Parts: sequence; C-alpha cells; structure tokens
Amino acid sequence: MPGGDGFDAVVVGAGPNGLIGAVTLARAGLRVLLLEGTGEFGGGLRGGALTGMNGFTHDLCATVLPLARASAAFRDLDLDVEWAFPAVQAAHPMDGQDAVLVHRDVALTAGGLGSRRDAAAWRHTVGAAASGGFGLIDSLLAPLSLPRAPLRTARYGALGVLPATALARGLFGGERARAVFAGMAAHSMVDLRRPITGGYGLLLAALAHKVGWPVVRGGSARLAGALVAALIEAGGAAETGHRVRDLADVPKAPVILLDLTPRQVAVICAGRLPAGYARRLRGYRYGPGVFKLDWALSGPVPWRDPAVAAAATVHLGGTLDEIAAGEAAVAAGGHPERPYVLAVQPCAADPTRAPAGGHVLWAYCHVPNGSTVDMTAAIEDQVERFAPGFRDLVLARAAHDTAAMERHNENLVGGDIGGGYAGLTQFIRRPSLSTRPWRTPLPGVYLCSASTPPGAGVHGMGGYHAACLALADHRLADKAKLRSVRDKRF
Ligand SMILES: Cc1cc2nc3c(=O)[nH]c(=O)nc-3n(C[C@H](O)[C@H](O)[C@H](O)COP(=O)(O)OP(=O)(O)OC[C@H]3O[C@@H](n4cnc5c(N)ncnc54)[C@H](O)[C@@H]3O)c2cc1C
Repeated sequence: MPGGDGFDAVVVGAGPNGLIGAVTLARAGLRVLLLEGTGEFGGGLRGGALTGMNGFTHDLCATVLPLARASAAFRDLDLDVEWAFPAVQAAHPMDGQDAVLVHRDVALTAGGLGSRRDAAAWRHTVGAAASGGFGLIDSLLAPLSLPRAPLRTARYGALGVLPATALARGLFGGERARAVFAGMAAHSMVDLRRPITGGYGLLLAALAHKVGWPVVRGGSARLAGALVAALIEAGGAAETGHRVRDLADVPKAPVILLDLTPRQVAVICAGRLPAGYARRLRGYRYGPGVFKLDWALSGPVPWRDPAVAAAATVHLGGTLDEIAAGEAAVAAGGHPERPYVLAVQPCAADPTRAPAGGHVLWAYCHVPNGSTVDMTAAIEDQVERFAPGFRDLVLARAAHDTAAMERHNENLVGGDIGGGYAGLTQFIRRPSLSTRPWRTPLPGVYLCSASTPPGAGVHGMGGYHAACLALADHRLADKAKLRSVRDKRF
C-alpha cells in the first residue's frame, strides 16, 4: 500500500465527487492517492444490510441515479456496472384518484396529467428541456461556464429561476400536474416559495424523460466499487480508515482535493487560511436535515393504485399546496404532521435487493437541521395513506435521525444530505463568490464536494471541475516551486 510522499495528488473523501476527481486526475497521468475516513469507499453510495435482515440490501443514501447517467463526468467513463431501469420513472399517488406517473415518454406522461392544457404545458417546458443533445444538461452541471446550448439554457433559466409554487401555478391549471411538479422540486430541500426551486423541478422531470431514473443492479455501492477499480486501473491508490483531522495528516502532494464541506475544511485547514475565507467557510449555511427509514418487507408495498409498484421513486405528499406547506414548515424550523416523503422501492427495477418475494423500501422526510424528533410515525402514516396495510409487511426497520446520518458520514452536517442550503444565495456562493469556487486560497488545495457547484446529487461534477482546474493550474505551475511552498506549509 502506498503512503507518505511521492504522489502528485491526494484526494480526501471517497464520495462520488472525490472518486470522480481521483479518477480524472489519475487518467490525466498523475500519481493519485485517495483517502477515505470511514471503513468503506463511496460516501453517499454506501449501503449494506442496514435492517440486519439477511439477503436484504439497502442503500444508506443515494439509490436513484439519473444525474450519474446524465453527467459528462460519468458519460466519459466505461464503468463495470449494470443499470436497472424501472418501467415507470417516478410515481405521485393522489387521494381518491389514480397516481400521476412519469414515464420515459413525454407524450405518455403528458397524457396522464388530466387536461389538454397541462399536457401541452408539460410538453413545451419539461419535454423541451429533455429534447436535443446533452448541451442543456452539461450547461446546468457546469453553471459557471459559458452555456453550451445558449438558447435552450436561457429558456430554461427564465422559467427555472422562479419559485416552484409560482411556476407550477403559472404553467398548470390542474391539481395533478401541479402536484407531480412539486414532488420533483421538493428534492431541492428548499422552501418551494423561494426562487430557483422551479429549476430543480424542471431539471429532475426532464431527466426522467432524457435518461430515466435508474438504479444500479445490486446496490449503489457497486458504482463506488467500479469507480475505485477505475482509479486502480489508472495507476491510482486508495485507502479506507484514514480520517484526516488536519492538513498535516495528508501526505505531501502538489494537488490536494477535499471532498468535504466548508465547516470541515475550516477545521482541517485552521490557522492556514486567510481570515476572510475562513470566516466564509465557517459561516456557510447548511440546509434542512433528513429523518430516514429503511424497511425490509415481506412483500411489495400494497399501493392503492397498483401502477405505483412499477416506479422506483415515489413522491408522497398529495397536492402542491400540501407539499409546499410541509416544506415551508420545515424551512421555518417545524416538523409537519403530514410531511413530504420521498420513498424509494429499488426492487421495482432490481429484484436482487431482497430474497424471493421480499422487498426493500426506504423513505425520508425533511426536518430542520440537527433535529432530534423521531418522524417514524409521520413517515409511515404517509405511506399507509397511499398503501393501506403497509405496516403489516414490515419485517424489520432501521431509523436514522440527523445525528445518525452525520455519524455515518461527516459531510452530512446536521443531517443535511445536500452539502449545504441550495437556495439562490448559496447557489451562486458555493462556498464563495468566484468563477472558480473549487480553488481555495491555499496553493494546490481544492474543494470538490457537493458544497461546490453544481451541488448535491451523484453526478461527480464537483470532483470533475476541481480536478480539471487543478490540472490546468498544475500544468501552469512550476512543480518544484509548488512542492517547496507545500513543504513550508506543513
Ligand atoms: C439519504 C440520502 C439519499 C440520497 N438519495 C440520492 C439519490 O437517490 N440520488 C442522488 O443523485 N443523490 C442522492 N443523495 C445525495 C448524494 O448522495 C450526495 O449529493 C453525494 O453523495 C455527494 O457526494 P460527495 O462526494 O460530495 O460527498 P459524500 O458522498 O458525502 O462523500 C464524502 C466522503 O468523505 C468522507 N469524509 C468526510 N470527512 C472526512 C475526513 N475528515 N477524512 C477522510 N474522509 C472524510 C466521508 O466518509 C465520505 O465518504 C442522497 C443522499 C442521502 C444522504
């Protein structure tokens, strides 16, 4: 196992951004060492037998990975994983009527929205965003560069800058279309009355059409394993159990990528950063947390509308008004009685996650950052509302409150799974106002986590951007000089 000096680059943290950053640097010819603090690679891609039931595989965090299918960083890699697509990309159960279903096909989806007007609006907005090549998606995942599809990006931006509530009410006349749009936008964990939440809804809905909302067969940890294998194949090295407490714990190297959030970076780099930058890192705003449940089930969830069984992702929360009120309550520090619940049933696409006949399900709701409230009953009530008899199938459950999430992964500060508040202000200051926010004032040290653009999700683009910037800087810099600067610093 390599260690000590002799590396061109060291990456701290093996989440999807750290992994992609490490692979990008290694493929460019740098000698790379990846250091992960816990006993497993993957960060948000980790998983295992969380409920303790043999044969049931649960993802601790991410399961549904459209961003990994769409991002330029992943598109360039030929990874050894098998993608599994559900027949329906997302489902939104409604009280007293059929669920709204989001299919790969735009017209089929639009046809289920309940009115011609809403069908046309869906086609002209979500459908338009999904059409064409990857120019728009690439521009959205590289928010600080010149857009590759300027007209389409401008059109998207004009709508996407709006709050999801205003956009949904402006575009759609009916309850069904408004509700399904709210379910998409609420992934942002931002109050839906705030600017740019409409953009999150548009992007996620468009991805359902463009690339689908698939899972990785066997569990998301397989994707992390494939990325580690790609790193090793490119000549890199990787270690678990190496928690970095101080920059001095990192072997000397001209390039260091930190897949960490600003608060951790402020601690690790304490005493070395300019006061203003350190203050900005310490003042970085974290978003709401999550309370998450994983279940091992004796059978499929008994959805009142059986069509919901075909979707891996299910948004529970009813109408736009109800979802918006729940998210507003969380933003104001409350715990709604009927929260917006994001549920994922991976077996809809990948039956290998459970023994024959069995199923796994996870669901979380948003809670204020650092919340200690047990939301088990509120979440299960929302599932029961649309799937009566669900509780009878529960063989075992595992609950993670915000503190438990953070214990598993230090980047989930206060249970925030998004790497920081994702509202407008922090969208453009992530973590600092700069065209190159990945670069820190310390020469050769870069941030690459979800706390940098383009933010949360398994797309690896934070790592990719940081690695590309480091490569550009590294090639320009006098390597020997850079090394001597680093030697002094340590
Ligand atoms: C419950 C949940 C569900 C989610 N669902 C989805 C989904 O379905 N689809 C999707 O696209 N996204 C989803 N996400 C979001 C996604 O997982 C994250 O946005 C993504 O993992 C962020 O990647 P990252 O590399 O920035 O950080 P992380 O994945 O958080 O990885 C950071 C890594 O750094 C390590 N680390 C931290 N501190 C140190 C240290 N001091 N020294 C060494 N190592 C350290 C951590 O152990 C961790 O491995 C979900 C997240 C959660 C928590």
